[in-house]
Amino acid sequence: MSKPCHSGLGKSTLVNTLFKSQVSRKSTGWARDEKIPKTVEIKSVSHVIEEGGVKMKLTVVDTPGFGDLINNDNCWDPISKFINEQYEKFLKEEVNITRKKRIPDTRVHCCLYFISPTGHSLRQLDIEFMKRLSHSVNIIPVIAKADTMTIEERQDFKQRVRKELEMSGIEFYPQKEFDEDMEDKSDNDKIREAMPFAVVGSDKEYQVNGKRVLGRKTAWGIVEVENPNHCEFAQLRDFLIRSHLQDLKEVTHNIHYETYRAKRLNENGGLHPISSSDTQESNL
Ligand code: GDP
Repeated sequence: MSKPCHSGLGKSTLVNTLFKSQVSRKSTGWARDEKIPKTVEIKSVSHVIEEGGVKMKLTVVDTPGFGDLINNDNCWDPISKFINEQYEKFLKEEVNITRKKRIPDTRVHCCLYFISPTGHSLRQLDIEFMKRLSHSVNIIPVIAKADTMTIEERQDFKQRVRKELEMSGIEFYPQKEFDEDMEDKSDNDKIREAMPFAVVGSDKEYQVNGKRVLGRKTAWGIVEVENPNHCEFAQLRDFLIRSHLQDLKEVTHNIHYETYRAKRLNENGGLHPISSSDTQESNL
């Protein structure tokens, strides 16, 4: 998972919420050897999570500082570069004569894009970023800090964002063109109509009706992060980690990686097509 947006929108908090434990980029951050411009330094944290009895390594790549500068021209470049580097690594392993049975998969399977809960419009930067990156990675836009909006404001804003994304021709995940059959289309239509998910994050637990829940305590009550009446975090989590995890990986492999691979092999004077290997890791 890659999750660009400017600072303070609750990205680290949401990751902690997702892992439901204290995973901080400060404690387990991994700095890449190569020097990346400081503005968008990319770090990743991995955590093993268990879903339906299956253990899986989930790696989250964070991009602190994205869009923080006065001049944000090309600030998506380091992110785009990072995504392509992972494709390149995979491709290099694939074209090796002695191919590994299981190629380590560091490809980014999904990019969560945090939208500021302004209640107005998307910023030009939001549109530019999603437009450029949607051809190389699965983009999932989310509205951050949804507790700062009233129910009506949230609904209006969601609708406006959907309209703006459509008008800008941005294809976010799950992309219509990749629906496999009518059932898939009808399931995904419902999801697309509910997007972008308006989320609230917190790594603090409170006692509510005798149960400990993740929440944000305010002067007027506790916002329960996993309560679907309060926000759409649970929907996002289920979508990412349960219902669509496999599909995110497949679309990455079959569409985004394939596009990259075809382009690179063409540049290389046309190497023979190479069949791919199955991989088990998940990088959202
Ligand atoms: P990041 O810079 O995007 O990683 O943002 P952080 O996760 O560090 O959060 C920035 C601030 O926003 C912190 O004070 C958080 O407690 C607060 N915050 C995080 N998530 C939420 C949220 O969902 N709602 C509200 N109201 N505040 C949040």
